[in-house]
Amino acid sequence: MERNYPLEIDKLLALFVAQSNDGYAIFDLDDRLMYANPSYTRPTLGVSPEQVIGKTFDECIKEAFQSRRGIKIETADIEQWLAMARQKRWQQQFRSFEVDLLNGKWLLITEQIIGDKFLFLHSTDISRTKYLEKELREAQSKLYQQAYFDELTQISNRRAFVQRAAQEVEKASRNANELTLFLFDIDHFKKINDSHGHPVGDKVLKQMCQVVNSQLRSYDIFARIGGEEFALIFTDTSQLTCCSIVERIRLSIQCHSFKLDNLSLSCTVSFGGATLNASEKFESLMSRADKNLYQAKRAGRNQSVL
Ligand code: GH3
Ligand code: MG
Ligand code: MG
Repeated sequence: MERNYPLEIDKLLALFVAQSNDGYAIFDLDDRLMYANPSYTRPTLGVSPEQVIGKTFDECIKEAFQSRRGIKIETADIEQWLAMARQKRWQQQFRSFEVDLLNGKWLLITEQIIGDKFLFLHSTDISRTKYLEKELREAQSKLYQQAYFDELTQISNRRAFVQRAAQEVEKASRNANELTLFLFDIDHFKKINDSHGHPVGDKVLKQMCQVVNSQLRSYDIFARIGGEEFALIFTDTSQLTCCSIVERIRLSIQCHSFKLDNLSLSCTVSFGGATLNASEKFESLMSRADKNLYQAKRAGRNQSVL
């Protein structure tokens, strides 16, 4: 049986393009729309093909922009936007780009110059992929937040502190820079929990972090490394300056009135510090600071030992 494949295929292709969920369009050398299927004109221009065939790219875009349909164009000056678009159209044999629509959807558009005279466009809906990408990014950022920040106080947690501190100690050793570590612990915190309950203790921890943060510079390292134990690292700062910062923090906590529902509490903290010695390891620095914290507690609390 004889079959006329080429003719059949031409007809089938035309039918396929006309009915496809993907958009297809052809512009001529004057950038006039020669052909488009509804799946191209509806999402990008908000109209049927009959309403735009024969119009130039500029005319199509301006009409859509003025009637707020189709692709999202964020500009106060449409002529300037079109001039920018023109700089990209017809410049490459093939290019692809993503556009977002006013209805929140996303399209991936490819442009291809065919026979030096025609610009063929193909558009496909990538909204689902875009949505999943956004979900993935949000999940990643949530995981990062959970991995490196303390849930209660929102400051760095122990894991973040150990990583960052080890890096800073290594860097300070290498460059012979000053680095001072302070550990601090709330005095008689058990009493606060025992007298007012754990939730009140939690609120004290949160407020205390705000008080401390308000005394720090953006590049100081501050972390919650245990229940009511915290760490501070000061880099490129003289020991004298570190001591005065810590003294300021100690006093601001001592003077702070922790307002919790209908009660007002005060508390104090004890600090143990250590300044990095030449070629000292992070673990040794921590251990010296911890010993000094113990000394501060033994000597009566609400003080700092370096
Ligand atoms: P000291 O002056 O010797 O430090 O006395 P302290 O009572 O603070 O003793 P210690 O540091 O050993 O006690 C820590 C207490 O902190 C015990 C624990 O119940 C409480 N704590 C630890 N983590 C949390 C927390 O996340 N929330 C609350 N509310 N309490 C906590
Ligand atoms: Mg403790
Ligand atoms: Mg304590």
